[in-house]
Amino acid sequence: MAAAEIERLIRLLARLPGLGPRSARRAALTLLQRREQLLEPLAQALAETAEKVTVCSRCGNLDSSDPCGVCLDPKRDPSLLCVVEEVADLWALERSGAFIGRYHVLGGTLSALDGRGPEQLRIAGLVERASDPAVTEVILALGATVDGQTTAHYLAERLAPAGVTTTRLAHGVPVGGELDYLDDGTLTTAMKARRPA
Ligand code: ZN
Repeated sequence: MAAAEIERLIRLLARLPGLGPRSARRAALTLLQRREQLLEPLAQALAETAEKVTVCSRCGNLDSSDPCGVCLDPKRDPSLLCVVEEVADLWALERSGAFIGRYHVLGGTLSALDGRGPEQLRIAGLVERASDPAVTEVILALGATVDGQTTAHYLAERLAPAGVTTTRLAHGVPVGGELDYLDDGTLTTAMKARRPA
């Protein structure tokens, strides 16, 4: 039985995606054995991240400024708005370099099973942003899952009165695929081959 502090560390690490109890114990041990190189810098990084990083009130991205760096970037094309499920999808598209507009992070998909309706997602803010005359196209870059496609269909209807063109990603997104897992080339193709929603 380890010290209560270590047990707590292991319990918290085990809640991270991809880390079960066994790998959490190994990670905790590595941290404790490499105090100066890992444990202390990590503790500092966690504290600073918790203090400084917030959710962008405009697009839902995570950044140390609100509005975030993408929203404030003057080089972005103001006519393009790309809707994604999660920040991980925004990161994936940014890594691919396939998109030069701005984003809107929904915070998930509509899901009857999980009881997630439009109020639980950042949809009202999206409709408001799409109503800006500067915005001409909203790209619904949602996963090719049932919930993702249901959400895209719902959004296309909600956005119709705003008078914007709504498009979806086309080739390359495999059925059941989540954007975060796609390679850069597939994502780039899917973005270029987008079609009316
Ligand atoms: Zn933002």
